[in-house]
Amino acid sequence: MDGRRIVIVGAGIVGLCSAYELLQRGHQVTVLDREPVFDSASCGNAGLLSIGHPPLTRPGASIRGLRWMLSSTSPLYIRRRPSPELLRWLLDFHMHCTEAHLERCMTVLCALGFRTLERLEQIMDAESIRCGYQRTGWLDVVMDPANVAAAETEAAMLAPHGYRTERIDGAELRRRDPAFSDSVAGAIHYLDSANCHPGLLTRGIADAVRRRGGTLRTDATVTRIERDAQGRARGVRLARPHPDAPSEVVPADVVVMAAGVWSSGLARTAGLDIPMQGARGYHVQLEGVPVLPRTGCVLHETFVAVTPMSTPTGGQLRLAGTLEIGPLGLPWMRQRLAMLSAGARRYLRGVDEARAVSDWAGYRPCTSDGMPVIGWAPNTPGLYVATGHAMMGMTLGPVTGEIVAQQICGEPCSIEPDYLAAMATARYAPRGASQSRAAPLPPEASPNLA
Ligand SMILES: Cc1cc2nc3c(=O)[nH]c(=O)nc-3n(C[C@H](O)[C@H](O)[C@H](O)COP(=O)(O)OP(=O)(O)OC[C@H]3O[C@@H](n4cnc5c(N)ncnc54)[C@H](O)[C@@H]3O)c2cc1C
Repeated sequence: MDGRRIVIVGAGIVGLCSAYELLQRGHQVTVLDREPVFDSASCGNAGLLSIGHPPLTRPGASIRGLRWMLSSTSPLYIRRRPSPELLRWLLDFHMHCTEAHLERCMTVLCALGFRTLERLEQIMDAESIRCGYQRTGWLDVVMDPANVAAAETEAAMLAPHGYRTERIDGAELRRRDPAFSDSVAGAIHYLDSANCHPGLLTRGIADAVRRRGGTLRTDATVTRIERDAQGRARGVRLARPHPDAPSEVVPADVVVMAAGVWSSGLARTAGLDIPMQGARGYHVQLEGVPVLPRTGCVLHETFVAVTPMSTPTGGQLRLAGTLEIGPLGLPWMRQRLAMLSAGARRYLRGVDEARAVSDWAGYRPCTSDGMPVIGWAPNTPGLYVATGHAMMGMTLGPVTGEIVAQQICGEPCSIEPDYLAAMATARYAPRGASQSRAAPLPPEASPNLA
């Protein structure tokens, strides 16, 4: 087979969409993931493909976060701990919570929005992926009449970027969708977005990657990026499956780091420091809700995302949300999981009559400036990074995969250069180090790395 050997670390939506696009261009693609089953954030998220969604870095967000830090049942909870890394992240996050930065981010994120859905719809069509996708927008559902104006102001932010929204009062909302209770004051309908079952979508793309000749290895934990004497990425090293097993290096001409929140630890093995925190969230999946809402929504006051999902056993409702910043891998905070049903029951009829069929927790990969990290590593030729999508990874996975493939193959990009620069990995260039050229695939034959 022609093409270069490309190893992608991470079988989440970003890694799989990148794999799909690279296979389309004739490369030999191997995706490595340590998980034997799909349990990533890409499968457990709320499934809202909410294009034009603002980043976490909004004016006032850092101050609100610090206030909320004291309560383990606040929507954003930061576990207090003596960590220079967390402190640095918080300070940098605070510096980015400005109007000017938000405007810059929105210009870029809105530019990505329409393209991501267009590309996703093409892939789903070509691969016959059935994941309950519906382009019916999402609703910002407001309980307190005093909050409707603020919801409208937030929606107005999208108008200059060509996004449509509609204000709906409570009675009209209930007429259109009887799932909502009499307590709801109204909603803002973000008309251009979509929703789906994210697990079915992610699996659908994984199947397409296999069908198109890609290799998907699970139970493959990457421990480090291997570099040659010139500092070029030459593959990745895997953890030994047992202490007596030989250590394996999977050789590559290009390594794509798409390991979600774990990308920053792995990037450090190649001397690249990407300040990132994992913001854990939870979901609970309900069966037996008497009336499912017609489209995805976010409950304005409680920040719970609500998505109707069709499954082989019938209609279910996923409640997802809460942001918890702390060390990775700690036991679940059950009180935060409980916040989901508690936060939904006043908005929706019948939540208390439903049965929980599953629950889940996973991490959003959050950079301190609120923007994804997409581009060649500044210090290691052959290493490409695609991560940091925070609350928008499901939405932006397809366009990210396209950018990854276009940049790796040296093609013209579907996104403007200025927008790419705002997300570039080059913003994490080690101080004082000379930057490597963000070169597409090398024309020369790759060295034998076996
Ligand atoms: C509660 C919640 C709700 C959300 N709702 C939405 C939403 O509605 N819409 C939206 O757009 N986004 C949403 N998100 C965010 C979205 O889920 C993430 O941004 C996105 O899934 C990130 O995708 P990813 O591919 O970068 O990483 P992940 O999905 O985290 O995948 C990374 C993969 O890398 C693997 N990996 C990690 N380290 C290694 C290693 N060393 N070796 C091998 N493999 C490794 C992991 O096992 C994992 O499978 C939500 C997130 C949460 C937590």
